[in-house]
Amino acid sequence: MSRDVPADPTIPQTRHLRTAVPGPRSLALQAERDAALPAGLGRTLPVFVERMGGGIIEDVDGNRIVDLASGIAVTSVGAAHPEVARRVAAQAERFTHTCFLVTQYESYVRVAQWLNANAPGDFAKTTALFSTGAEAVENAVKIARAATGRPGVVVFSNAYHGRTLFTLAMTAKDKPYKTGFGPLPTEHVHRAPFPDPLRWPGSLAPAQVADAALDAFEELVDRVGADQLACVVVEPIQGEGGFIVPPRGYLPRLAEAAHRHGIVVVGDEVQAGLARTGTLFASEHDGFVPDLVCTAKALGGGLPISAVTGRAEVMGAVSPGGLGGTYSGNPLACEAALAVFEAIDGQDLTGRARAIEEQVRRALAPVVEADRGVAQLRGRGAMLALELVRPGTLEPDPDAAAAIAAACHRQGVLVLVCGTLGNVIRLLPPLVIEPDLLADALAVLSDAIREHIAVAEPEQVSA
Ligand code: PMP
Repeated sequence: MSRDVPADPTIPQTRHLRTAVPGPRSLALQAERDAALPAGLGRTLPVFVERMGGGIIEDVDGNRIVDLASGIAVTSVGAAHPEVARRVAAQAERFTHTCFLVTQYESYVRVAQWLNANAPGDFAKTTALFSTGAEAVENAVKIARAATGRPGVVVFSNAYHGRTLFTLAMTAKDKPYKTGFGPLPTEHVHRAPFPDPLRWPGSLAPAQVADAALDAFEELVDRVGADQLACVVVEPIQGEGGFIVPPRGYLPRLAEAAHRHGIVVVGDEVQAGLARTGTLFASEHDGFVPDLVCTAKALGGGLPISAVTGRAEVMGAVSPGGLGGTYSGNPLACEAALAVFEAIDGQDLTGRARAIEEQVRRALAPVVEADRGVAQLRGRGAMLALELVRPGTLEPDPDAAAAIAAACHRQGVLVLVCGTLGNVIRLLPPLVIEPDLLADALAVLSDAIREHIAVAEPEQVSA
């Protein structure tokens, strides 16, 4: 029987453990993986996946695990959205690839038009498509250099922009990302302090942190020379660095300062963009309007596609033939992106992200207590994180984050750890996760935190 529409995988939306996690089949595959793959490829949860749908990952042992990761903020529409699957399958039957620079197809233009219409900024925009987040960021830098004729790039403490050699130079965290890979092309990369309200020295109020960070940016520009600086690249909410939200008003003031110096403003929305934070772009929360914005991850609903969207005159500075790549804007990925755009509108995914935030904040509020080692619950929409510290201090506690994540994994809840200091548990559920399933996963996480606190400090709970 032919099946022209891929089935909507109707996996029960409940957590269910048939074996230990990982189970025997995953362990057997793991042994083969270890023999066939280099150790440099990390892993979070050593299970192998059979199928996914909604908020569930079903592994090869038949365990149903709650997905609070979305493949690192990629499958916001779910990992098997029926319309993504249908469009990709239909496209694969027509053609899989042409190289857009050789012969063209309509879906690339439609994706570009949607991004031009919806990215922040009330000005004429154009879009170029690529395949990965790092590729989008590198191309934004190339475009800014072409537009300004200047070499320098300003980035921030805790920034993450990718693993290619140049984006590694832009990324803040050294271990393990940079270990053994130097020398990196850092010559024209300059790092300014990001206004982290929790960790800025001197316990300042958020508005003062913003002022101090802007002063530091000005000092950097003064020291290096504005005529040496092509762009400043900023994540509106820092992702891998620990879901750090800058104080309100900082981002538009940063853009204003950069523009005064003729510096192009690049927003890296690779992780935060496309409905994840409860608005289409995270920049919108603060009225931040970058000249160029990078998107990836959620854009393709699981297929590799990324984009640089921005001011037509800046984008237009690159001479013909200067941008591209063999697979950039691949037609399967463009079809997937068009399905993602429909899902964002049709399923009100920004509204879903806001509802997820409410539910998570309500469920986790009781365990957020600096005195007991949980310094903050922060983020926006369905991009939320808990920062773990040694009780009563701001000293990072990466061991606590690892222990709590491991306890969740054993119970069939996939959470990720992040943060430059490795002490942040982040939650990135698919935006289509059902509230009951999310409630179950949050109960597991709360129990894991309480248990950890109890084990770490027996005297406090035995009273
Ligand atoms: N920028 C940000 C903000 C990211 O979070 C990431 C990936 N985590 C990247 C860039 C790099 O994206 P990719 O892994 O697709 O190259």
